[in-house]
Amino acid sequence: MEKTQLLDFARRLGFADARFADADDTLLKPGFKQPRTLLEGASCIVVLFMPYKPSAPPEKGLMALSAYYAASHASFHAARSAADYIREAGARALHTTAINAKEAALRTGGFLGDNGFYYHPRLGSFVCIQTVLTDAFAPDARGKTGSGCLHCGACAAACPSGALGTIERCLRYHLNGLVPETLRNDVYQLLGCEKCQSACPLNASETSAPISFPLERIFSGEAVKRLRELAGPNMARRGRILSQAVLYAAATGQTAYIDDIKKLAENEGEPIASHARWALMKLNGENK
Ligand code: SF4
Ligand code: SF4
Repeated sequence: MEKTQLLDFARRLGFADARFADADDTLLKPGFKQPRTLLEGASCIVVLFMPYKPSAPPEKGLMALSAYYAASHASFHAARSAADYIREAGARALHTTAINAKEAALRTGGFLGDNGFYYHPRLGSFVCIQTVLTDAFAPDARGKTGSGCLHCGACAAACPSGALGTIERCLRYHLNGLVPETLRNDVYQLLGCEKCQSACPLNASETSAPISFPLERIFSGEAVKRLRELAGPNMARRGRILSQAVLYAAATGQTAYIDDIKKLAENEGEPIASHARWALMKLNGENK
């Protein structure tokens, strides 16, 4: 198979670019086997890039899903199809998340911004990266990775929690569990934060129509099935969704949901109950 043939197919799947990095054992996430052991004879990592646009703000009473997580889930399944396509042509191919995708992408060019995100030379940082190990292609020569970051500080200024360079203060780091009180007012969408990327002059400023849900459908659990379809069952877990929705309701002053939040404070486990108690205090004017 020619590389251009795979690139054409990848474009039909929604990827904007496919690049070809060399496969060795230095890109593995901790605890995984060497790439060549993951796929005997692997010569190359196909690095697939699917762009997305951050979500526009939703209407009042709605909460939007992070555009990244919807795109990431779509890119995961598209990369599986790309691996199937290579195998159908008679070569070996394995879609894997065992490889550090950011490091694999850097081998093909691009750079890391001061916000810690990978920047594709043409697509910027609003891009989901997937990796497919294969013996179908020879890797390209390593790309130029000199920094294109302007060091302008716009990302740091846009970060609500002063998190740049301190992963423990990043909202993304905490969205799996109990969010520290100092960050609770900053939850503005489900499952993610893209503020430091949106502020970057190297990224396009377009947004996508929000994929949003009425808060009452989130609190009642009705929205979870659709969220799982969009973001994947691992990401869109009921507890994670509810615990973020109560913070968002409080941060946006939505007093209409006080009764729903009371029920969650009384009936749910952690971190939902703690978040709900904090949200009630805020909506009742007892904290700011
Ligand atoms: S906002 Fe400025 S400093 Fe931050 S990643 Fe973009 S160019 Fe670099
Ligand atoms: S993702 Fe959000 S919280 Fe994390 S560094 Fe960027 S702006 Fe700050």
